[in-house]
Amino acid sequence: MPNGSVAYFSAEFGLDESLPIYSGGLGILAGDHIKAAADLNIPLTGVGLFYKKGYFQQHINEHGTQQQLYPDVDLEASIYPVRLVMDAEERPVVIEVSIGGRQVYAKAWSVQVGSVTVYLLSTDVEGNSDDDRRLTDTLYPGNQDVRISQEMILGIGGARLLEALGIQPDVWHMNEGHSAFLAFERIRKLSAEGVPFETALEAVKASTVFTTHTPVPAGHDVFSIEMMDRYFGGYYWQLGTDRDRILSLGRLDGAFNMTRLAVSTSSKVNGVSKLHGEVTRELFHQWMPHIPIQDIPVDSVTNGVHIGTWLADGMKNLFDRHLPSDWAVRTEEADVWDAVQDIPAIELWKVHQHAKSEMIEELGLPLALSGEGPLIIGFARRFATYKRALLIFSDLERLARILGDPQQPVCLIFAGKAHPADEPGKELIRRIVELSREDRFKGRVYIVENYAMDKAKKLVQGVDVWLNTPVKPMEASGTSGQKAAMNGVLNCSVLDGWWVEGYNERNGWAIEGVTNSEPGYQAQQDSHTLYQLLEEEIVPLYYKQGERGVPTEWVSRMKESICSIAPVFNTHRMVSDYWHQIYVPAAARGTRFIADNLEVASKVAAYKQFIRNNWSDVHVRKVDILENSSSRIGLNKTTFIAEIDLGAIWHKDVRVEAVGSDGRRGIWKAKLEPVQQAAKGLYIYEGISCDIPINIRDANVNVRVTPISPDFANDFEMELAAWG
Ligand SMILES: *Cc1c(COP(=O)(O)O)cnc(C)c1O
Repeated sequence: MPNGSVAYFSAEFGLDESLPIYSGGLGILAGDHIKAAADLNIPLTGVGLFYKKGYFQQHINEHGTQQQLYPDVDLEASIYPVRLVMDAEERPVVIEVSIGGRQVYAKAWSVQVGSVTVYLLSTDVEGNSDDDRRLTDTLYPGNQDVRISQEMILGIGGARLLEALGIQPDVWHMNEGHSAFLAFERIRKLSAEGVPFETALEAVKASTVFTTHTPVPAGHDVFSIEMMDRYFGGYYWQLGTDRDRILSLGRLDGAFNMTRLAVSTSSKVNGVSKLHGEVTRELFHQWMPHIPIQDIPVDSVTNGVHIGTWLADGMKNLFDRHLPSDWAVRTEEADVWDAVQDIPAIELWKVHQHAKSEMIEELGLPLALSGEGPLIIGFARRFATYKRALLIFSDLERLARILGDPQQPVCLIFAGKAHPADEPGKELIRRIVELSREDRFKGRVYIVENYAMDKAKKLVQGVDVWLNTPVKPMEASGTSGQKAAMNGVLNCSVLDGWWVEGYNERNGWAIEGVTNSEPGYQAQQDSHTLYQLLEEEIVPLYYKQGERGVPTEWVSRMKESICSIAPVFNTHRMVSDYWHQIYVPAAARGTRFIADNLEVASKVAAYKQFIRNNWSDVHVRKVDILENSSSRIGLNKTTFIAEIDLGAIWHKDVRVEAVGSDGRRGIWKAKLEPVQQAAKGLYIYEGISCDIPINIRDANVNVRVTPISPDFANDFEMELAAWG
């Protein structure tokens, strides 16, 4: 494979509705990532699980109760070629994973998406016990034993499959922490070749990258230590170190956390929007409180969507006519989209009206379009409670007034599945069904069954407004609003996730979003803002007549939505960002670490061990801060002098800085240099800074010592800092 080949591990892939092996946004993102990699000719291989029964089919009965049906996935129906993976002798490739003392076998299906292959493992293999054959039946089982087994098959089995197929990735990408056991397997393999554990860990880490998607601790996979012992008891020793060291990679609050494992075994970690990057830094800061939030090494690559998948055919034709002819391969270039501004309003409006009536027809909604009306607002996503599907029902009378105006009718369409184990989520569905039957909401509120990619396409293409009301900051990114935006559907969303970056005041509406307050208060504030937007802006603008029966101002916003959002929030831009910011550096790093018989990996391992063994002797003994006379208005020249005991550690192996708060959630730093050695291991450091905020006394300044190395991926790779 060319330099920089990537193995992309994900527990779900939303490639097409005909292959229902995804449950929500994470899977859709993975599917869109695969398609964009194929479009861009990126050398990438997907690894996942083949769920025989897929995610469930949803039926909502007359009581509003969600019923889950589990038909077998029909491979013949897949629009992508799916094949059983065979070896050179035309026998199915079967790999083995020891799970809880049993040998479990798995075969693999390959799904071909252009130039990219996605391998999906299945334990439905002869030779397995009946229970084991069912291990990979469904997504995200509630049973923890099945769950850890699936994650072992994905991580360990996935790595073994690539090995069996002779695929040697330069970069291993863990899309969410479910696949993090792959790091164990890679270490095991090196260990079997005689590589010491710490060296193997460094080699693996150098070439592994991790994308986290969950902004709340409750969303991370956690297994008890007892369970880890039960499943990994026969595996620990094979990694070449003791049980405690292995568990330390994922240990958090007395249990084993897959996100922690993924962070410990990756050289790059990213969130999925800028805000989510910040929120993740805050979350990880709790694990390493001695490192300020701003210094926690987490980047972000904001999610996007695959335009070819989500754009309505009518829109594609329209863009073919009005945009540069090669627009579809230049989607991340902003000026390609400028031409949208010149599309005659009536043409764009007609194409949208067409998508709207198609949606109504295909979803079987008993709605008739007349003139512009009704204005249709869509809310479709997993029924997870944090997404607050009921927010718009906070004040029923006020909502009934908004929806019921005969001159300006408004309809709400809901769709989504609740995870089978999520009772509060199912309750949301029941409540919406109940409300839709109230007289005041009859014909105004609908719920569509069995939300999946096919329904999602119709909805994001056909509604007028896409509503999104999560509890800020719990929506890491969200992507459905991006699909809507490029179809000219206007977002009305809490300023969370991607919308913080996408909203420009002209391309939709923002609900500012109250954060970190009592949930009732937060909901009250957010719903109030939502009603006000609907009453004062959204509904009047939609029904404001322009020329020739076209609501011209609304259409201007649609254009703005397309132009400002499509070039940025698409997977071509996203996968290019992954390529340049993450894959290429990680591939180079990984290659360098293993060259010459793992020379760099072994050096870094030894260096870290030396630092770790001696770090307890590092102390900041004394700090003096001298304020000199003002050099510039508002800025003081300040001298820092610190006496630092480094013990056995060489002064060139640390960085010493004065670190203070800037009073605006940020920090500033001034570097200190050693000016004198006072005794063995004892140094005087000094630094001068001229651009420190004026209130040095209030700035809460401390001196920090951190171990550094040109071979570290970031300054806090060791998660160590001594303060004084
Ligand atoms: C796009 C999509 C999602 C993700 O939507 P969010 O905005 O992240 O909630 C979930 N399910 C389906 C079927 C989708 O198409």
